[in-house]
Amino acid sequence: MSRYWSEVVRGLTPYVPGEQPKLADLIKLNTNENPYGPSPRAIEAARAEAADTLRLYPDPASQRLAQAIARRHGVAENQVFVGNGSDEVLAHAFHGLLRHGKPVLFPDITYSFYPVYCRLYGIEYREVPLNDAFEIEVDAYLKAPNGGIVFPNPNAPTGRLLPVSGIERLLEGNPDSVVLVDEAYVDFGGVSAVPLVQRYPQLLVTCTLSKSHALAGLRVGYAIGHPDLIEGLTRVKDSFNSYPMDRIAQASAVAAIEDTAYFDSTRNRVIASRGRLVAGLQSLGFEVLPSSANFVFARHPARDGADLAARLRERRIIVRHFRNPARIAPFLRITVGTAEQCVALLAALGEILAPRGVASSTAP
Ligand code: PMP
Repeated sequence: MSRYWSEVVRGLTPYVPGEQPKLADLIKLNTNENPYGPSPRAIEAARAEAADTLRLYPDPASQRLAQAIARRHGVAENQVFVGNGSDEVLAHAFHGLLRHGKPVLFPDITYSFYPVYCRLYGIEYREVPLNDAFEIEVDAYLKAPNGGIVFPNPNAPTGRLLPVSGIERLLEGNPDSVVLVDEAYVDFGGVSAVPLVQRYPQLLVTCTLSKSHALAGLRVGYAIGHPDLIEGLTRVKDSFNSYPMDRIAQASAVAAIEDTAYFDSTRNRVIASRGRLVAGLQSLGFEVLPSSANFVFARHPARDGADLAARLRERRIIVRHFRNPARIAPFLRITVGTAEQCVALLAALGEILAPRGVASSTAP
């Protein structure tokens, strides 16, 4: 605390990202990164860009990248906004499109950055409970006037997907404020709401290259929506930072998006690995929520979530555990790793769950 802090700073409760440990030889399954690495073409494009042009400012409009994204999704270039990770895109959306003096609605169990943005920008919000199966209940959002509706699809950290029919029902029943669908994880088995932007001017869909394109370190995210929503985001961006996307990020992201063969093969490997991980966890007695993401949300009926996470850590495997809200404290959120990482995780959990006598008799 400092007397130089503004009142805004004093009132903030910043987001706490998953740990990025410095230790080597860890199995890191805590921040939903892609285990397979980005397209070799994306790395080559980054190298080529770094070799040549860093003396010059980047294109403030990220036009080539916006065009590549527009081609990928079959939309027009003026329906695309590009930002420094989808976190920045979300921040601009809260600031520019969701601040209307009425509460913004989002699930009670969801991406914990949303309430942080609300506090940063002085936006009132209301958390709408997921049902007992951890699903979004569309009707619960249609009851009161709101300043906007936001949710990830698939939701995080549950991994559960709301079908496009549910999103459409939400849009039909909520024409007067922005509905923001955060599709950070959609490429791992979800169905995108992007085609609906042509019919619903209040729909904004955000996406990221951090997960399915394995470029979390590059910081590239984007939004797709009606040109008027995109213009609003651009006005916020141009009042904040003209150059959020550096030259390397723009060049590398274009190459990653254009390498569709690599994209398909790695995401299919993650999806296959997820199937094996879920089966393995279930055979150890875990209850696993149906996941359409590159992570699973699982609890063991007889074991404490925090304790399981701590014991995995002793074995150099890190997963994510949330103490709050209490309803999710028994769960572990486990990123889908490579086949080998999943085998190592299941073996460690097998040891941890084994009755003590058995564990010690099998110890070397
Ligand atoms: N939305 C959700 C639901 C997420 O889990 C994340 C990753 N933490 C993001 C958005 C932001 O991703 P990025 O800023 O890396 O694009």
